Amino acid sequence: MNVENEGSGAKNVYLGAIEAGGTKFVCAVGDRNGNVRERVTFPTTTPEETMRHVIDFFRQYDLSALGIGSFGPVDLNRNSATYGYITSTPKQKWANFNFVGEMKRHLNVPIGFDTDVNAAALGEHLWGAAQGLDSCIYITVGTGIGVGAIVENQLLHGLTHPEMGHILIRRHPDDPFPGNCPFHGDCLEGMASGPAIEKRWGKKGAELAGRTEVWELEAFYLAQSIANYILILSPEKIIIGGGVMKQEQLLPNIRRHVIDFLHGYVQHETILQHIDEYIVSPGLGDNAGICGALALAIQALDKQ
Ligand code: ADP
Ligand code: ZN
Repeated sequence: MNVENEGSGAKNVYLGAIEAGGTKFVCAVGDRNGNVRERVTFPTTTPEETMRHVIDFFRQYDLSALGIGSFGPVDLNRNSATYGYITSTPKQKWANFNFVGEMKRHLNVPIGFDTDVNAAALGEHLWGAAQGLDSCIYITVGTGIGVGAIVENQLLHGLTHPEMGHILIRRHPDDPFPGNCPFHGDCLEGMASGPAIEKRWGKKGAELAGRTEVWELEAFYLAQSIANYILILSPEKIIIGGGVMKQEQLLPNIRRHVIDFLHGYVQHETILQHIDEYIVSPGLGDNAGICGALALAIQALDKQ
């Protein structure tokens, strides 16, 4: 859609979006339909340098609202003194960074703020693989593992926000790897993230494509977590992305293990007969996160 043609004589509505990752930042402007018009990507360095790039990009546009999907953990409690902060991240210099406050200093617009995976879940719900459904989860398996959830058409929040990448799982009896989560050792992220694969097998995931045992074990762990998410949230669609999922043999292995772990307990044809359409790749591909941040901007604008 072309924003210039939107409405009759209406002012152009530019929405800003930030997908803030621990490795890279994506900044974009787009429209209400999830179309991205311009985007830039740069590596995540210090907060000062990274924010300079962010502000320089958005300065070129007359924004109506901004959405931020951020790596975390983040403080999403609007009544908290540290609302809008990145809190206890092990990522150097970013702990206790006032992300929303810093953006507000430069841009006087409504700001939507959520986790990167909640943003991606929202993007997929509006424009991707979960369109028209009331619920879904979005899982990313990359440098870390994170999960965002839509429940009854709303993003799921709680005391803080769910951290479903750090759940405890049952170890495979033949796997001696101790796990590499700095907080929990052998939680899901500690056993199945990209860096965990690299540490266990001594090579990056991309170089292990031909090693079937690598992806069989990876699917064993991811499928356990997915079975748990199904039992706890009963999502209508499970979307799974991130760098590690570039291994195409993973998805069929995951589906097979999920059915094994559930063992006939959840009697629904979606799982028993149509699992290929139930556990899927992102409909928006690599754009789930940035489109989700656009969606957060729309929510912030509409709430105003
Ligand atoms: P981030 O989590 O930082 O946003 P990604 O989702 O791209 O970034 O995840 C990066 C992780 O994915 C790295 O640990 C990397 O080794 C792994 N990875 C990237 N490409 C592949 C691939 N083709 N096969 C397996 N693992 C991959
Ligand atoms: Zn952990």
